[in-house]
Parts: sequence; structure tokens; C-alpha cells
Amino acid sequence: MSYRGRAASILGDAGVGDLIRVRKDGAIYDGVLMPRTELGDEEHIVLKLKNGYNIGIGTSGAEVEVVQKGAPREIKRGATIPADPTKPQVTILGTGGTIASRVDYRTGAVHPSFTAQELLTAVPELAGLADIRTRAICNILSENMTPSHWTEIARACADELNRGAVGVVIAHGTDTMAYTATALSFMLQDLWKPVVLVGSQRSSDRPSSDASLNLVSAVRAACSDLGEVTVVMHGSSSDDRCLVHRGTKVRKMHSSRRDAFRSINTLPLGEVTERGIRPLSEYKRRKDGVEVKVDARLEERVALLKISPGMGQELLERAVDTHQGIVLEGTGLGHVPEYLLKPIARAREEEKPVVMTTQTLYGRVDMKVYSTGRELLTSGVISGGTMLPEVAYVKLMCALGRAKSYEEAKSLMETDLVGEMGPSIGTDTFLV
Ligand code: ASP
Repeated sequence: MSYRGRAASILGDAGVGDLIRVRKDGAIYDGVLMPRTELGDEEHIVLKLKNGYNIGIGTSGAEVEVVQKGAPREIKRGATIPADPTKPQVTILGTGGTIASRVDYRTGAVHPSFTAQELLTAVPELAGLADIRTRAICNILSENMTPSHWTEIARACADELNRGAVGVVIAHGTDTMAYTATALSFMLQDLWKPVVLVGSQRSSDRPSSDASLNLVSAVRAACSDLGEVTVVMHGSSSDDRCLVHRGTKVRKMHSSRRDAFRSINTLPLGEVTERGIRPLSEYKRRKDGVEVKVDARLEERVALLKISPGMGQELLERAVDTHQGIVLEGTGLGHVPEYLLKPIARAREEEKPVVMTTQTLYGRVDMKVYSTGRELLTSGVISGGTMLPEVAYVKLMCALGRAKSYEEAKSLMETDLVGEMGPSIGTDTFLV
């Protein structure tokens, strides 16, 4: 619906979908002009701010300036881009998320909507980089991902790489992207080619979307000399660079910023440039001609519990009753209130591994410093070292799926399998 009355007169030639700046009472509001909804009448206009929220602004005393004329990016439904066998083949697996979503300009809500093929039409420069093939796995928001989706994605990656793709890009929601990246890191065996997860914080049809730089960079990474599972996302809040993160060391650290993804306890692997990857730390290099396999054995009955002061003992008791392994997000160096030692000791008796990680995320677990930590070690708690809580969670599913005994599962948890346990390199990388 378009604006009428006083709203229309202050908008001048600003149209719905344009990025505009509104000055009012000394404040400045930048955002995309939304159509007239219940928030916008003849006296108000509706803006979608950078943080994703819609606000209604009264027109009295307001001045409007058009910052960027931009109708929403047009994504053609059902469109396809022809194959180009003269270029290296990269397969984009579509799983959904904001990157494959469309903003509903009536309500401002975002829905998964586009296929990977349709996404291509929004970023035509991709076709100049590689022979892009696409394959749909699902079209869901990533909060709905399950371990069976991880298995399906892992099988599709192996399949594509063994059938000639130089790399695979997975378009994925950002919320749980790091879990999927971790699962693929453990499930894909003999992987020596790039598997790159990518997403966006703004839907692809929005003029301000980060999708196009992220996708172009992900395809560049998929053609590069990387030989492992990575996440490629914006490396700054402007549209100038993307960083490559190891799949088991990355975390979404902001709910809305473009550069929400950070390597934790380590440097990113590299920066994506037009020439490929500019390395920032050591990574596994591509080797061609090796067949990728999938180890899909997973024990899904694993719980991830955050320790909080005064939390009920029955919560942990119940988790021990109903799960085969537990990851704790302890306080500080890896601590829990004393009364939780009882259910932890029972888990050990029942041969159910309990792995300690830290809710500080940065730094490592060290249970030898305080008496509570020492008691935890005596009760049989396994140290997760520098592993992120969610990495330990997915790894414990894999370890329990593969191991035939408690000891074997413990030893897998204590072994660095794919770079997930790298040393914490100190405060200089804190929040880099
Ligand atoms: N909730 C969305 C998802 O994870 C957010 C995103 O894609 O950025 O699917």
C-alpha cells in the first residue's frame, strides 16, 4: 500500500524499498521505507531499521532524504542459469535460512522462499566465477535443523565432490550454521576439498542484503586451495571483505550485525580476495583425487546444559536418566555448584560421559585450579579444553555413535580430530 496525505508529501519521490534518512527532532533514522501498514497512516511512515526492527515515525517536523534508490532485488521465480563446463564446477546446496528468504513487505516478516537456483539469478556475477550447479536439500530456517539434516547434507557434499565438484557451498541459516559446520567437519572423512557454509543476516531480495558478497566470497573459497569445512561470512560491518573461519572454531556472536561470525580462541583461516584466500593462519590444503566418505554414526541422545547459580539438581538428574552423554557449559574454568557432583558421579557409574566446557567461550577449561574443579575430575568429568560448548555437543554425538566403550568415547573426546581443540592463542585474538 502506498502512502497518502501528509506522509506522501514528506516522502516526495522516496518509494517503498528505498533506503531513506529521516531527520526529526534532532534524531536521524536510517532504514528501508516499508509500505503503509497498521503502523503507517497519513501521519506516519514505517521504516525497517538496520537492526531489523520496524518503527513508525510521525510526519510532523520530519524531513526525508533518499540515501539509496533501490527497489528490492528482483529474484526471478523458477529462473535457471545454464551450466558452463569450461569453468570449475561448484555445487550450491540449498537448505534455506535468511539467505534463501524473501521479506514480506506487508508484514516485514522473513520467510524461506527461494531455491538455490533462484538465488543465482539475484547474484549473476557467480556465473562468471564457476560452473555453478545447484541442489535442494531443504528450505527451512536453521533453528529447525536436526541431526538427520546434517547427515543428508554430508551425503550430498560427498556425492558432489566425488562426482567432480571442486568445492561445495551450503546456503544455510546463520543461527545454527556453526552446529552444521561442526557436524560436517566430523562426518566427512578424507575431506581434502572446500566445503563452505554461507548465509546472510538480511534476506537476499533486500537492497541492503549481505547475501551477494557472502555468496561470491563463498564460491571463491570453494574454488580455492582450502581442504576443510569452513564458514565464510562478512568480516566487517561494511560490504568490503569476507573472512574464512574453521567450521569447528566459529560462532555467531551477534544477533544482527553483518560481521556476526567470529573465530573463537584462534585467528580466522583467511580473508577472501579476488585471487582466492589470503591466509591468516594454518589450514589444511586441497588435495585432489581422494574419495570423500561419510561417517554418519550419531548418538542423538546427548544434552547440552548451561550451568547457572541455583539451578535445580533435578534438571541434571533428569538429563542423566534420559541421555547417553552430557556436555556442561560450566562457569569460568569449568565449574558447577557442589550439589551437582552427585548426578555427575552417577553418570560416570552408568558410563555416560560428562564433558566440561566453559561459558566464557574464550580461554580453556582447567579443572585443576580450584577444589570444585578437582572434585569434578575425581568424579570422572572429561575436560573439553578449548572446545566450544556446541562443538563438544556435536562431537559427543559422533564419539558415542562410533565408540564401543566409555573409554573409547572419552579418548575420542580428548583427541583433536579436525582442529577443534587447537590451543587458545591468548588475549590478542580476544574478540578479533
Ligand atoms: N533464523 C534464521 C536461520 O537461522 C536466521 C538467518 O538465516 O540468518 O535460519
